[in-house]
Amino acid sequence: MSDKDCLFCKIITGEIPSEKVYEDDTTYAFKDINPKAKVHVLVVPREHYANVAELAAADPQQLAHMAQVAQNIADKEFHGAFRLIFNTGIDAGQTVFHVHAHVLTGEKLDE
Ligand code: IMP
Repeated sequence: MSDKDCLFCKIITGEIPSEKVYEDDTTYAFKDINPKAKVHVLVVPREHYANVAELAAADPQQLAHMAQVAQNIADKEFHGAFRLIFNTGIDAGQTVFHVHAHVLTGEKLDE
């Protein structure tokens, strides 16, 4: 299911343009417009879930698949090293309420 008011649902359908990095039947990955690392990709399920806890409860296989997509991006960009972040809740910095994995890679990251 998708949400007509959701920014990332609109990116997935192409209504709003994005720089695609990867896609398959269940998952879409695109460049973050405000990158926090040399390579900063957002990995999202095509289905709309508000956050990672909702996704994990409803479809853990999809969550595992997103981790694998992140690994594949990092294998290509930076010998397999990456940081995976799910901001969850306004007070943790979540601004878009369609679950997304931030994949930071492409360079050595600060600790
Ligand atoms: P959050 O703060 O964890 O919810 O992450 C939302 C991310 O979406 C931020 O890193 C934004 O830079 C990114 N973002 C917002 N709008 C767009 C867009 O139109 N294209 C790509 N990335 C976006």
